[in-house]
Amino acid sequence: MKKKIDENKWQDILSEISKNITEVSYRTWFAPLTPLEMDEDAGVIYVASSNDFLIDVLKNRYIPIFEQTIETIYGKKYKVVIKNMTDEEIKSSLMGRTESSPKAPVIQQDSEEFREEYFLNPRYNFDNFIVGENNKYAHAVALAVAENPAAAYNPFFIYGGSGLGKTHLMHAIGHYILANNPDKKVLYVSSEMFASELIKAIQDKKNNSTKMNAFKKKYRNIDVLLIDDIQFIEGKDATQVEFFHTFNTLYELEKQIVISSDRHPSKLTDLDERLRSRFQWNIVADIQPPDYETRVAILRNKAELEGMSIDDDMLEVIDLIAGKVKFNIRELESALTRIISYSTLFKQKINVKFARQNLNDIFSTGDFNISCETIKKAVCKKYNIKIADIESSKRKREFSYPRQIAMYLCRELTDESLPKIGKAFGGRDHSTVKHAYEKISDDIKKDSILADEIRALKNNIE
Ligand code: ADP
Ligand code: MG
Repeated sequence: MKKKIDENKWQDILSEISKNITEVSYRTWFAPLTPLEMDEDAGVIYVASSNDFLIDVLKNRYIPIFEQTIETIYGKKYKVVIKNMTDEEIKSSLMGRTESSPKAPVIQQDSEEFREEYFLNPRYNFDNFIVGENNKYAHAVALAVAENPAAAYNPFFIYGGSGLGKTHLMHAIGHYILANNPDKKVLYVSSEMFASELIKAIQDKKNNSTKMNAFKKKYRNIDVLLIDDIQFIEGKDATQVEFFHTFNTLYELEKQIVISSDRHPSKLTDLDERLRSRFQWNIVADIQPPDYETRVAILRNKAELEGMSIDDDMLEVIDLIAGKVKFNIRELESALTRIISYSTLFKQKINVKFARQNLNDIFSTGDFNISCETIKKAVCKKYNIKIADIESSKRKREFSYPRQIAMYLCRELTDESLPKIGKAFGGRDHSTVKHAYEKISDDIKKDSILADEIRALKNNIE
């Protein structure tokens, strides 16, 4: 007979597992699981996830520790079955459960050792990497690679725009591998550096063969190669040839290769076709610009790392910056660090006014002039309703939906705070605006026609 999994037991299982693996592994693979039910007679425990990659990693690597831990807690052997379900299915399977969903136990952070010779930035580790919708796949693959290099995910190709965390993830992989296995030879290098070392080796005529040998030895005697910004070698033939040989040698020796690029491999049109296809032999993951929630989380984390207290003023400043800098995490962070250092310099307290004054380059450009009024007008025109209707509290969908869309757009396109936006819509509460923003963000993901409609509206307004 099947029955629910006891909440306390489940928590015991989780906290036992968390003692035996790193915090980030725990957070990535186990914390998101949903316990479904257990069949005592058959000796099976069912859990669920909507994430294919997570299920893949658990099945390949973590079933033994999972089942052992369950045996410890229940005093009896169970088989674990991980069901692949959609988020909706998981939600509805939990309906009627009285217990709250599992909370991650608090775990002490591992201290990571930094070894200078590998040129890894100690700040770029998994603990400091904020995971959001935009990067969760790339993050999960990076962690799987770090846990078990040169196994299932080789080569790993990661791509995305500038300032979105590619280098950070690569260093994180390097740190993680070294922390678990200090003897591994991890080499992080930008492809620019690779090219310039190669050129030096070639140009040194006198010692040509020794230099070249040293170069080859360096790159072919490592366990993990992290090569950043590979787009740089496009069109550089000699570098491509040498990298091709390096790649093949390492791959045949079963060494891990991680490559980053600003584009998908298929878009590296000036690259040798053989490299382009090798880059797609295994896993290719992208990083997208972060959504609003992720931007806020990144800024909060950054402020905490800088030793700032997160009071209401700081939260407002974070909200202000997150509302403005959307496509580059480096710029997002630097806006905040600038405010922090100016406040120290001028001995002034950080608040929205101070932030606006000192970030005027960011706030004086682009969409600063867009107001909630403009947005309301545009939305009303599009949906053929009156301004009075959008400001009213009429609940009919023909009014309420455009109203939510307008609130969403105000959030996206202006710097106004949630309460201010609420005010512009007939004095609504900030939570109503937040709800509207989340609802429309959700709907956009599911409904591509709506997404197009809103994109058109945005263009129109801008
Ligand atoms: P890229 O290599 O893609 O250009 P970087 O890895 O250099 O970007 O990231 C730029 C900055 O943003 C770095 O300071 C990095 O630590 C930070 N960053 C990027 N993504 C995240 C994230 N998800 N969480 C925290 N910090 C991040
Ligand atoms: Mg980079």
